[in-house]
Amino acid sequence: MSLEPLFALHEGLPRAGPGSEASTRRAIASLPVPSEPARILDVGCGPGAQTVVLAKLLQGHVVAVDIFESFLRQVTANAEVSGLAGRVTTCVGSMDALPFPPGSFDLIWSEGAVYVIGVPKALELWRPLLRPGGCLAFTEACWFTDSPPAEAKTFWDQSYPGMTTVDGNRGRAVSAGYEVLASFPLPPEDWWETYYGPVRARIAELRDPWRDKPDLMAVLDETEHEIELFSRHADTYGYAFFVLKKSSD
Ligand code: SAH
Repeated sequence: MSLEPLFALHEGLPRAGPGSEASTRRAIASLPVPSEPARILDVGCGPGAQTVVLAKLLQGHVVAVDIFESFLRQVTANAEVSGLAGRVTTCVGSMDALPFPPGSFDLIWSEGAVYVIGVPKALELWRPLLRPGGCLAFTEACWFTDSPPAEAKTFWDQSYPGMTTVDGNRGRAVSAGYEVLASFPLPPEDWWETYYGPVRARIAELRDPWRDKPDLMAVLDETEHEIELFSRHADTYGYAFFVLKKSSD
């Protein structure tokens, strides 16, 4: 899926991927307690639902990065509404070319966005940005079984060939120089309440204005198919949170 229709589908919605404040809090709870104000990088922040939770719960400062400037305006507005404007800075940039010197962050966070470059690349590219002993937390689409149903496997092999199991991702993390502090699946309500539910309503709104644009209609069809597939196979795949700590070199 190209990014422009993806953006139109998500503009103004609370999240641009599955997640919830409860899951963000659960991942934060498995981090070592910071001894000083944390420097946090939120990669692919989207509208900033998790950015605000990070700024609220962790002492320190969050730099929120996204490739779409209009998402960053939402982040700023969210931070202001929450009284956290002084703790959040936004930055337009791409996750495969982050403009920060080595060791800049105590914590790198990324919910629902690592798929853009894939887990192995994110683990490799972001590790140098962490200080020694710094942490990386992200969510990622995973298989929850070694033998997925054929129709789900066919769909995801095409949409996201890099998708693997929770254990597969834990293994990738260890090979890339991290210790796994925690991993847990996101509950199905993290998909429905703030993500697929609002996206489904948006699809219904866009059908008429997009009816003469076959490529955009195809995106709506594909997304609707993705949602319908999840409604039948949520026990076999979903998102999982991974909380990692950079191992010493
Ligand atoms: N973390 C948010 C958004 C997840 S959707 C949430 O959970 O709601 C993925 C996000 O990655 C989108 O906001 C998209 O604009 C952003 N993105 C896509 N490609 C990117 C890139 N190359 N660099 C940085 N962000 C990117």
